[in-house]
Amino acid sequence: MTDDAKGANGLRPRTNLVRGGTNRSDFQETCEAIFATSGYIYLSAEEAEAAFKGENDKYIYSRFSNPTVTMFEQRMALLEGNETCRATATGMAAVFASLMCMLHAGDHVVSSRALFGSCLFVVSEILPRYGIAVEIVDGTDLDQWRQALSRPTRAVFLETPSNPGLEMIDLEAVADLTHKAGGRMVVDNVFASPMLQKPMAFGADVVVYSATKHIDGQGRVMGGAILGDPEYMEDHLAPFLRHTGPALSPFNAWTLLKGLETLGIRVKAMCDNAGEIADWMAARADLARVIYPGFSDHPQRALVEKQMSGAGTLIGFEVPGGKESAFKFLNALRLIDISNNLGDAKSIVTHPATTTHRSLSEDDRAALGITPGYVRISVGLEDPADVMDDIDQALVTAGA
Ligand SMILES: *Cc1c(COP(=O)(O)O)cnc(C)c1O
Repeated sequence: MTDDAKGANGLRPRTNLVRGGTNRSDFQETCEAIFATSGYIYLSAEEAEAAFKGENDKYIYSRFSNPTVTMFEQRMALLEGNETCRATATGMAAVFASLMCMLHAGDHVVSSRALFGSCLFVVSEILPRYGIAVEIVDGTDLDQWRQALSRPTRAVFLETPSNPGLEMIDLEAVADLTHKAGGRMVVDNVFASPMLQKPMAFGADVVVYSATKHIDGQGRVMGGAILGDPEYMEDHLAPFLRHTGPALSPFNAWTLLKGLETLGIRVKAMCDNAGEIADWMAARADLARVIYPGFSDHPQRALVEKQMSGAGTLIGFEVPGGKESAFKFLNALRLIDISNNLGDAKSIVTHPATTTHRSLSEDDRAALGITPGYVRISVGLEDPADVMDDIDQALVTAGA
């Protein structure tokens, strides 16, 4: 999908970010309204019966749906070029529901290893408890996918670019293998954001988001979103969400609607800043390993060019001297905040080995390139010169 391809409503993406899904009440408010209500009344017993039979599209209960949440879902669906979207309270609720809604005991699931820590916990610790056989592969190695997907498989779960190593997975090739194995490919598209990568264009069946990240992007609320094919959305996901209840609150949906209005310009500005900062870091003699998908020597550069329309807002690098120097570096930062969030207007630094990926074994961390000196920076909207000044003084203090 190009930047100006029209959505199902005849409007282009930048217009839909601002107006898509807007549903005004009789008051004709300019801004989307927050429908802070758990329930809805019926004008007659017959109307209530018809609503429960599904004969009208009345709102019934905000665990099922809510007008403010619907506006957010419709705006997301237009952005993704999908018919429908369902919102959840957090990104993890989206990840868990996206898988659990279609899995049964005895199913086979294949997942890439380089995942957000909680996603890895869901696939490697929770799913096996329910009799689901999970195989974990190195997502960059197509032979391992081919081998794992040589038997019937219900679902594939992957993240690209990956957290925190910024590795790329070949979406089209893995989608093809997944479909031959009879399954659905679920893509966690958080790192790229909906602005930089459209996994469905490469064969993904389901796309999940933590809306907490770039979509809010201002550190205010949690949220999640799931998009998928009509059969999946109606037969699997809708009843699962309705009866298990990971619903997004109307206030958070409203905040995310406001976030979407500026998502395009924020992600573009953050990518520009990240590119500038990454180039500056790569030119430094004191940093051995700087990883940014925009670099011509990124190990999967061809995939970055094929799948993404921008190189992203995250940079990974190694502070020489291991954990001690990495901690000194983090503690010396004056502007960049230490936090595990990402995609925020404020630049954020994370030490994955001791936080987000702490629960992995040392071997697993090593396999993902998460060394004791590895640091991830999520580049925000500040003047990049100030961010570079901060990194520079902190590296000097750390003695790197
Ligand atoms: C943050 C994140 C999640 C989980 O989202 P929450 O909103 O924190 O629940 C899932 N996947 C990735 C890649 C993330 O960065």
